[in-house]
Parts: sequence; C-alpha cells; structure tokens
Amino acid sequence: MNYYDIIIIGAGIAGATVANTLKRKNQKVLVVDKNGIASGGSGAAGAFVSPKIGKGSSLQRLTNESFSFSKDFYKTTCPKYFHQTGVIRIPKNETDAEKFHEYEKYNENIYERYSKEKLETLGIKSVFDSFYFPEAGDCDAKDICNFLLKDIEVVNLDVLVLKKKEGIWLVGEYSAHNIILATGFESDLVDIRYMGIHGTWGTRGNFKSKLALDISMHKDVSVGANVNSIIKLGATHEKEIEEILPCKEEQALKLKEKASSLIDTLDLEIEEVFCGMRAGSKDYFPLVGKVIDVDNMLKEYPDIVRGAKEELKYIDNMYILNGLGGRGFVFAPYMASLLSAYIIEGKEMDKRVNPDRLFFKWARKLNNK
Ligand SMILES: Cc1cc2nc3c(=O)[nH]c(=O)nc-3n(C[C@H](O)[C@H](O)[C@H](O)COP(=O)(O)OP(=O)(O)OC[C@H]3O[C@@H](n4cnc5c(N)ncnc54)[C@H](O)[C@@H]3O)c2cc1C
Repeated sequence: MNYYDIIIIGAGIAGATVANTLKRKNQKVLVVDKNGIASGGSGAAGAFVSPKIGKGSSLQRLTNESFSFSKDFYKTTCPKYFHQTGVIRIPKNETDAEKFHEYEKYNENIYERYSKEKLETLGIKSVFDSFYFPEAGDCDAKDICNFLLKDIEVVNLDVLVLKKKEGIWLVGEYSAHNIILATGFESDLVDIRYMGIHGTWGTRGNFKSKLALDISMHKDVSVGANVNSIIKLGATHEKEIEEILPCKEEQALKLKEKASSLIDTLDLEIEEVFCGMRAGSKDYFPLVGKVIDVDNMLKEYPDIVRGAKEELKYIDNMYILNGLGGRGFVFAPYMASLLSAYIIEGKEMDKRVNPDRLFFKWARKLNNK
C-alpha cells in the first residue's frame, strides 16, 4: 500500500513540478513536506517568470532556455495561475543603462525597446530606456504548487533521517525505489556540501491598489501588474540572514518605498507579507541529477583531496532538484523535465546543471582546511 516508485521530499515549486511531470509519465509518486505545500521559499516568491539579460553568459543562455520552456509549461498546464502581463526590465542607474546597449544583442527572447516616454504613458517612471519582454509574467506561487499537486498524494512529514532496507528507501511509514531531494535551502539529510547550497532571504508584500498597471517590471525591486486589485512587490537580496525569521511588515514597506521610484504608490495598502529563503548553488546554476556518495568517495579515494580524479560513486536511486536561486519559477518546470527524462528514459543529464561539476574542486579544498 505504501510503496511508491518515487518519493519527493519538498513540496515547493521544485517538488511540485517534478512530481507533476513524473505522474504524467505514469509513476506512482508521493510528496512529503514538513510544513505543507509551498511552505518554503516558493510560497514567499513574487514568482515572476522573465528572461535574464546580460552579455550572453552560459547562465544567461540556460536561464532563457528555461524561460522559453517554463512559460509554455505554465500556459498549457495551469493558465489560470500564470499572468502573462509582460515584464519591463529597467536599468538600475546610468552605468547599468549604458550596459543595456551591449546586452541588447543577447536578448534571445522576444522583446521591444521601450523609451522612457513610452514608459510614462504606461504609468511607469524611469529616466532610462528599457526592455519589454511581452511573453514574461508572474505566477500565483502557492496556487500553482497546489494545482500541480492536486492529483498527487502529499503528506505532512518532517523527514529527519533517510534509511534504506534491501535497496528500498524508507521514509517514515512510506517506502520507494527512488528518492528525490527537493528540500530547498535545508539540505542536511545527506552530505551534499560539495553543492554549496546556501540561502538568501527575501520579502514579498501584496498590496491592495486601484492603480491601473497592466505590466510588471524589475529594477532593484520587482513590481507586479495589478491583478485582481493586488500589486506584488518583492526582492531577495538579504544574504546576511541565515535562518528563517518571522515576516516583518517594515520589510514590505521598504519595498513600497523603493517601488515609489517606479510607480505611483499612494494608494498601495499592505494586504499580506510573505518572506522566505531561496536556495542557491555555489556557481548559481541549478543542481539536478544524482547525488555523489561523499563518504564513500573520501574513504575509497583519499587522494581526491590532493587533486586526483576518480570514477564517481553515487548514492543509489537518489536524485536532487535544488539550487534554483532567485529564478525558481523560471527554472523548475524545465529542470523537472530534464530530471524526469533522466530517471525514466535514461537520457543524459545536461552537464550545466549536473551537480558532479562541483565535486572534485570541493574535495581539493578539503586539503587546505
Ligand atoms: C521573497 C522571494 C521572492 C522570490 N521571487 C522570485 C521570482 O520573482 N521569480 C522566481 O522565479 N523565483 C523567485 N524566488 C525564488 C524561488 O522562490 C525559489 O527559487 C524557489 O522557491 C525554490 O523552490 P524549491 O522548491 O527548491 O524550495 P522551497 O520552496 O524552499 O521548498 C522546499 C520545501 O522542502 C521542505 N523541506 C525541507 N526539508 C525537509 C525535510 N527534512 N522533510 C520534509 N520537508 C522538508 C520545506 O518545508 C519546503 O516546503 C523568490 C524567493 C523569495 C524568498
């Protein structure tokens, strides 16, 4: 009765998208979360889904591939909870504005250049010309996670240890052939120090407003279009906060102050404040694939701390989907599709997101400690 093909630990956007994708591949899936659906960083997110601008780095290309995939995923899977309002990307300052000229040739997704005069007609204050991405938008974060998990068994369970008996994973009273760790910034169930998962704190405020604002925008704060009389303001930059704290209204009010340089915030009234931690990796790329058996590697091959490269040993039937950073809602559907294809169809994992990339460098650093 309690046996599953796959148990996923974590019911944030990572767990929800991979559970949904695996279920559609006829897998018997169980999702467990200690605090319920979207109770971590995902529930706090402004959940904007927009392209990344820059000078064509590998991370930018991956983000934009993910953006193309994910906006279509949301549009077809849960259109009610994805608002394709378009997103304007506004330079932060004069230096940034100059860089926008260089960035322009690397805009791979559909975009238009909006002059500051055009922005003014839309009710947006800016002294710089900006990029408008019409395909971008934002998700109702919690609703989307709930929707993706609606036909999937989800139980409240704080997983304290992972046990294995005769090759089968045991999680409380449940058992499974495979396990996927989608636990966000809390990542102490197995030794995955090599992935360098760390949290960055952020706050989102939902504000009631009658302001006519049809487009979302990012500058040093993200401002959502007015959807159902709510304007979302959000940012995640507070690296010095290391543990979960109660949400503070004053943080949301600071966002409102910042937003006043972009829109008329006079009638904005706080409705609800959300806050949470998003999990990033050492190199800002997502972490998707198998999990290396660190203990075993260090015991079997002590020379790896001096730079030797050996064949990697993995924890059998354990996978991870994490490190989605400030773009969890952009990356998750695409990463979930890569992981599902890897587990079920045996497709090769994209090297850019395979956590193996970080292992030997991390092991070498142990020698210097
Ligand atoms: C304020 C804020 C604004 C953001 N804005 C955006 C945005 O505009 N666009 C965007 O794309 N991204 C945004 N993000 C980032 C995005 O929210 C994250 O990338 C995303 O939430 C990561 O999802 P996740 O499923 O990996 O982790 P989480 O949502 O944190 O989920 C992990 C889950 O695992 C559970 N868990 C952990 N350990 C255990 C255990 N031992 N047993 C059982 N359950 C466990 C937790 O309870 C949690 O529910 C924002 C984040 C924040 C905080």
